[in-house]
Amino acid sequence: MTSTFDIVVVGGGSNSLTAAAYMAKAGKRVLVLEKNRRCGGGVVSVEVAPGFIHDPHATGLMTCMVNPALAKNELELTTRFGLKFAQWEAAFTTLFDDGSVLATHQDVDLTAQSIAQFSQKDAESYRELGRRCVKLAPLLNAGAATPPMPFSRFMGLLDSDTTGIGAELASSLFNSAYDVICRYFESTEVRLHYLKWIGEAMENPESNGTGVLVYNLLALVHSSGPFAVVGGSQKLSDALVDCIEYHGGTVRTQAEVVKLTISGGRATGVVLADGETIAAKDAVLACIHPWRLKQFIPEIDDRTAADARAVKLSNHGAVNQQISLSREPIFIGGNASILRNSMVVEYMPRGDFLGMRKIYDGYKYGEIPYGHFNPLTIINSFIDKTRVPKPDQAALYLYHFAPMHLADGGIKAWDARKQEYGDLVWASFKKYTTNIDDSCILGRLIETPLDHHRHSASMMQGDIFGIGTAGGQILGRRPTPALANYRVPNIAGLYLTGPFMHPGGTVTLGGRPTAMVMYQDMGIELKRGFEI
Ligand SMILES: Cc1cc2nc3c(=O)[nH]c(=O)nc-3n(C[C@H](O)[C@H](O)[C@H](O)COP(=O)(O)OP(=O)(O)OC[C@H]3O[C@@H](n4cnc5c(N)ncnc54)[C@H](O)[C@@H]3O)c2cc1C
Repeated sequence: MTSTFDIVVVGGGSNSLTAAAYMAKAGKRVLVLEKNRRCGGGVVSVEVAPGFIHDPHATGLMTCMVNPALAKNELELTTRFGLKFAQWEAAFTTLFDDGSVLATHQDVDLTAQSIAQFSQKDAESYRELGRRCVKLAPLLNAGAATPPMPFSRFMGLLDSDTTGIGAELASSLFNSAYDVICRYFESTEVRLHYLKWIGEAMENPESNGTGVLVYNLLALVHSSGPFAVVGGSQKLSDALVDCIEYHGGTVRTQAEVVKLTISGGRATGVVLADGETIAAKDAVLACIHPWRLKQFIPEIDDRTAADARAVKLSNHGAVNQQISLSREPIFIGGNASILRNSMVVEYMPRGDFLGMRKIYDGYKYGEIPYGHFNPLTIINSFIDKTRVPKPDQAALYLYHFAPMHLADGGIKAWDARKQEYGDLVWASFKKYTTNIDDSCILGRLIETPLDHHRHSASMMQGDIFGIGTAGGQILGRRPTPALANYRVPNIAGLYLTGPFMHPGGTVTLGGRPTAMVMYQDMGIELKRGFEI
């Protein structure tokens, strides 16, 4: 027998759970179907050694903190469902191989002071850039939590600005992050610091169209600040599930959807891998990667499907390791204080600017960056002791960019290269500490682009943000102009959510704008779910 719900939701990642929570809050009977054993997708936690809580994917949070789902407590995640955050002082810090440190703090002036160690002129430039980003933050942050305006209207808005910021932001949509960084900064260390950080958007910072990411990321740093979920990122997904259930919704795991049913030009339900069918009275809300739309919905028109299939993936993926350590790292250079208070720490040789630039090109060709490993760590146990059995132990998140497709063997070759790559990154990290060796390892989990691809259908080919963020695949053009408003042309009652939709990758709680569009189409008053 086919069961019926008002809204059937495909996927239990943070974006679909967010949208589902808003629909349940509006009184709709919601069913969420998740393929994995637990909901969360890229927002999950694992116990790598007994008592050590690691987040294998999203662990450093910024974007979602300015979303009214949290910032205005629209879903009551903190007050009713027990979600807690710990805040970092700095967003990202570079530890160079000579022990010197450069930190981007939440505070613009503190950041400029850190930059002044390397260049007084760059410190002044940062004050100017930082101030611009602070001014842009309300526009960019509000834009990330609401449906995107048509691209032409957005450009018109920038063009009509008379302060000069609009024109600069408009140029950044066509320029590269490298262009913006080199325009503002002259010192190699400052350039390295920001070039590496922008790479975290998974694009080559020299690709045209990445310039806007500099403004975006700095606006976030200086508005929201950096956070971690106390007890592990899984608790954010669990709070969203609790919210859905509190409002009468149902969440099923180990339930993989293989097809949508379309009848009379309308989405009417889903088919599960075991053949079970479930009907949707009002709508299907689906996390389906643009490349797979035709597979799930053969009825989709050919042009829409072809444009979606032509969407480009990111420049690189990542190999991430969760290492349970018997002791906290002590870093070279004696700068313990800020290194223990920065969400992200990047490790790199001082002065290797050309090497860094070439690495990003190499990923595109499937090359392993031998001799140029520059790891990143996030050690949430510095600020959240619930993640470790003893306070002097550490739950290390050790991460490094990687080609999604290896030159020799493509993505499938990753199982065979996993240990080698993981060991190279680990060896590189150890050099930046004075007390860490292999005997400190109590547990270790390594994941490659192939593991990411297997874990979530959103992480297509190991793209941790689903699709690329450059090449115009942002705002009202993400993933394509026809799909950017979360609806699918010619198929009523079908809505899309996922990292490949606006506002994009990272934990954004981007299901909020999808739900807004659904409220509008269903004639539900926005104030039932949103503070507007
Ligand atoms: C290694 C790594 C590190 C990251 N680090 C950070 C970070 O520090 N900070 C940050 O903000 N972000 C980070 N991210 C990105 C972040 O995890 C993602 O952008 C985010 O999780 C996307 O959420 P989503 O809900 O759109 O998709 P996903 O999290 O991918 O969830 C989609 C869910 O849908 C399910 N699903 C898909 N298709 C079906 C189907 N047909 N049937 C049933 N279920 C289905 C999947 O199993 C999955 O659970 C990282 C990602 C990775 C992989």
